[in-house]
Amino acid sequence: MSGLLTTSVGSLPKPDYLAKARSAFASGRIDASELDKLTRQATTECIRMQEDVGLDILVHGEMERGDMVTYFGERLTESMAIGGLVRSYGNRYYRKPIITGELRWQGPMTVEMWRYAQSLTDKPVKGMLTGPYTIVEWSFDEHYNSRRDAVLAMAQVVRCEAEELVKAGAKFVQVDEPAASTRPEEMDLVLEALAIVTRGLGAKTITHVCYGDFARVFDHIAKLPVDQIDLEMANSDYALLEMIREHRDEFDKELAMGVVDVHNHVLETREQVKAGIRKGLEVLPPERLFIDPDCGLKTRTWDEAEAKLRLIVEATREVKRELEID
Ligand SMILES: [Zn+2]
Repeated sequence: MSGLLTTSVGSLPKPDYLAKARSAFASGRIDASELDKLTRQATTECIRMQEDVGLDILVHGEMERGDMVTYFGERLTESMAIGGLVRSYGNRYYRKPIITGELRWQGPMTVEMWRYAQSLTDKPVKGMLTGPYTIVEWSFDEHYNSRRDAVLAMAQVVRCEAEELVKAGAKFVQVDEPAASTRPEEMDLVLEALAIVTRGLGAKTITHVCYGDFARVFDHIAKLPVDQIDLEMANSDYALLEMIREHRDEFDKELAMGVVDVHNHVLETREQVKAGIRKGLEVLPPERLFIDPDCGLKTRTWDEAEAKLRLIVEATREVKRELEID
């Protein structure tokens, strides 16, 4: 693999049959093995679709996860409980976990589905984790005396999980911190916690942060302890790219750049996407620039998600041809 690789941020839309099966399971109408069978079927479809559109680095699609924070809360049964339904940004409703005791890793939470997805393809599949800051920020804490203690304890838990993914063979581990930019005054803590997860991990590390006041936290974003930073660009009309251009000398990381808006069902034109990619290439060389959607695609329909990913791949291939990039 060489320059200007294409990838995807994380979640893909759940097919209808899986959404129905998940509510049937929640109300006790089907058992766990039936749900697992359908979850794997949907995961297989995610891999096939990404291979079919021609992405370089794949995701497993997160078919087994409802919410990115609740999923982990439900698996840390010795130290977390699941609370009532709350609404966060936009139309996201989730069951907010509660930290009730000393946080401790109890065993792999994500490895089995990653391993299954990776077994279906020769292309690399990213291991996907929710970052310690985001898990704590979007949970209640009834145990620790300070947020810092809770976040750093959660970082140890996420570190254990990241190590398991690497042991299983993951070449890329993505630790998403969508809550990172919501409290600029806590960015030092975000960095400290993420470093616990990523330091010397033995895989390429990535973090995705989304939709925040980046102007206030850009210095911290540039210092995030990962190899690759994944940022939405299309949605902000590439304003974040300008910030990287201004700080180009301090920015030594790879950038995964979102070139399609995930909140809009309208498909961008190929020229729009190609223009975005060319803007990226004005700032970073192709070997440090990755092309993807702004965020996870789970709120789109399957057809919209597939069309956006296909557009990304086709536009990237055209730009590579035009600029003679390998
Ligand atoms: Zn996002």
